[in-house]
Amino acid sequence: MEETQVKTAHPKGLWVLFGTEMWERFNFYGMRALLTLFLVNSLLMKEEEASLIYGGFLGLCYLTPMLGGFVADRFLGNRNCILLGGLLMAIGQLLLFTSGSIFEGNQDLARIIMYCGLGVIVFGNGFFKPNISSMVGSLYPKQEKTKLDSAFTIFYMGINIGAFLGQSICPLLGDVKDATGFRDVHAFKWGFLAASIAMLLGTILFYFLKNKYVVTPEGRPLGGLPSKNVAEDFEEGEAQKANFSQKALIGAGIAFLGLGAIIHFVFGQNLIYTLIYASGLALAGLIISDSSLTKVERDRIIVIYIVSFFIIFFWAAFEQAGSSLTFIADNQTDRNFFGFLMPASMVQIFNGMFVVILAVPFSILWDTLRAKGKEPISPVKLAVGLVVISISFFMIATQVSYIGTSGLLLVKWLILLYFLNTCAELCLSPIGLSLVGKLSPKRFASLLYGVFFLSNASGYALGGTLGSILPATGDKFVKAKELGIDLQAVLDKTITPSAAQLELLAKNQITDHYP
Ligand code: GLN
Repeated sequence: MEETQVKTAHPKGLWVLFGTEMWERFNFYGMRALLTLFLVNSLLMKEEEASLIYGGFLGLCYLTPMLGGFVADRFLGNRNCILLGGLLMAIGQLLLFTSGSIFEGNQDLARIIMYCGLGVIVFGNGFFKPNISSMVGSLYPKQEKTKLDSAFTIFYMGINIGAFLGQSICPLLGDVKDATGFRDVHAFKWGFLAASIAMLLGTILFYFLKNKYVVTPEGRPLGGLPSKNVAEDFEEGEAQKANFSQKALIGAGIAFLGLGAIIHFVFGQNLIYTLIYASGLALAGLIISDSSLTKVERDRIIVIYIVSFFIIFFWAAFEQAGSSLTFIADNQTDRNFFGFLMPASMVQIFNGMFVVILAVPFSILWDTLRAKGKEPISPVKLAVGLVVISISFFMIATQVSYIGTSGLLLVKWLILLYFLNTCAELCLSPIGLSLVGKLSPKRFASLLYGVFFLSNASGYALGGTLGSILPATGDKFVKAKELGIDLQAVLDKTITPSAAQLELLAKNQITDHYP
């Protein structure tokens, strides 16, 4: 009896969404682990340029969910958008695979295909991500909404199991050495192919299981074509739709263009970053100026804006994972982990791994504190998250300045950093999401989630800028020079290093770190 209760605690549909999201995050984070290294090593970009592309790409991935949410609500429904998003992401990965296959002698074409691939993934993510998350919420009847916290904890674990697997398998296939001990710049493509296959698996899984399991509490299919009946979720007397006046829309358009001009011309941001920042600000302004808002609603929305503002700095720091921290792992870290020399791109797995280990203890912690009446309020949790991530970066900055340009950071410091970042993430990310849900007037909920995701997007863009000001860590050329070896000539194959030189390069982790 006890056992059936446990088994039926969550609808089976949750596990279908869990599995689908797991494979999707495998594809996303597996590719993300390799992206900057691919840009630098195969497409011959500077680290600075790679960081900016990385930030812009991630930022756009969190701008398009507004489009995906809109298209689902108005035209296609959640299910179709998830299938479309999944297919687009698989195609995008195939384009990266193509870029990684042809770059030699075709640098320009390879770059164009890479940009197309990232563009397709951006749209794929926009269709997929908001729709799968909102379906999790819809699985539960109103009287069971209390189960939502634990449902989202389980879902967040699915996300991170996928991230963990992707960040392990894609680097093992794509970030490898060639016969001479140097990084095999032709191998990245296998990581992208694995990501594509993972995404296809997720999409197929969803396609075949959705009708049977992804259903409403009454057993009706969930997330089909949008119905006209939107009333059931609204309180009596509450307005059902945001209905912006033409004046407000024109005002937001002008604000978007004006702010965009300032951000682009005065602050010198590139067009993608400008688009991200300006859309966030214009949308926030549009919502808050709506005349239907009551004073209480407006105050609540201001709280969401304050939270969104601080969250920008969190993600800017957090998302150094795939750029500056990966470059440091690549060039300035002794990555020997219990006798296994980790590929640089793999060091990020500790984030996903720690989420999987810590998500349940954290939710037990909040439950226990709540039972004792001592649970901190959401803004306190968010502040703790910000303080913890600041401490982790302060720690790594101290270590990096301590080792100077020629020493090696021990990988344990990066692991500790990812541990602290994960604790911060668990104080902040799910809490922020549910806070927006609790404070939003229903008619503005999707748009306010849009603002919230745009603050994530702005954080990623800011993170790209921060990553790009990191002095190039690629001083393996300088290091090799100190050892009397012209590394560029070795890589260009104009000189062949002797066995002794190769050993020296390997010992100093200049050859691609897999002695
Ligand atoms: N790591 C989580 C995920 O993919 C959260 C990212 C975020 O909210 N910005 O999906």
